[in-house]
Amino acid sequence: MIALGVNGLKKTYDGGTEALKGIDLEIPEGSFFGLLGPNGAGKSTLIHCIMGLAIPTGGKAEVFGHDVVTDYQKARAAIGLAPQEINLDWFLTVEESLDFHGGYYGMRKKERKERIEELLEAFSLTDKRKESSRLLSGGMKRRVVLARALMHRPKMLILDEPTAGVDVELRLELWQYMKKVNKEGTTILLTTHYIEEAEELCDNLALINKGKIVKTGTPSELKEAYKKKTLEDVYLKVVGRSELARDKLKNA
Ligand code: ADP
Repeated sequence: MIALGVNGLKKTYDGGTEALKGIDLEIPEGSFFGLLGPNGAGKSTLIHCIMGLAIPTGGKAEVFGHDVVTDYQKARAAIGLAPQEINLDWFLTVEESLDFHGGYYGMRKKERKERIEELLEAFSLTDKRKESSRLLSGGMKRRVVLARALMHRPKMLILDEPTAGVDVELRLELWQYMKKVNKEGTTILLTTHYIEEAEELCDNLALINKGKIVKTGTPSELKEAYKKKTLEDVYLKVVGRSELARDKLKNA
């Protein structure tokens, strides 16, 4: 089954910026798929179109067969989003954050209760359940954001730059949680500009630059296609900055 199918998707913002210039993508169910590209490439715009937060100006996108525009509610229910910014309600406890999210997605009380227990356990948050979100450490806040995205049992999880600006320990910790979620069957779409993160986590990657998908493949297929030893060198080639390759820096 195709988790996310995108065909010729375009987005031109009012004012004329062509953020997406005809995107084609196919993400199979169960995949840990990475969208790798520099700032301004169009990653957030693509996610916004999939989530119904931006209206595409051309083409189409389907989530598990549901059109993101005409069948918006079903498409949206199949997705859990962990946004770039930590957008927790500071006045809710951890448990309430999960519960309200479940309620918003129409889950019944009993079902919410069971799911909350599962998620608190899975994300090692059980002893913080009554803690107000604003009092949590940065790492815990990020875990709550992930748990909340999974609350309504979405089949696909979208992670928008989940480790931007976090320290090494937290990044590695979040990677473990993400891998576990994927192993348990949730399809993941991850956007990142960290090459190491894409290489570590993703079975398939799409390189995006200036609103276009430049190339898709496994990390090793991409290296082969560009005849490069590292994914970083592939990336630099794609963004037109091969002069920054590390073997050249050594001789600088
Ligand atoms: P990324 O997430 O890869 O950094 P974005 O999707 O945020 O890229 O941005 C793609 C392009 O669209 C950029 O040129 C950006 O300035 C522009 N853009 C993003 N959001 C808006 C908006 N709401 N209105 C106008 N232009 C936007």
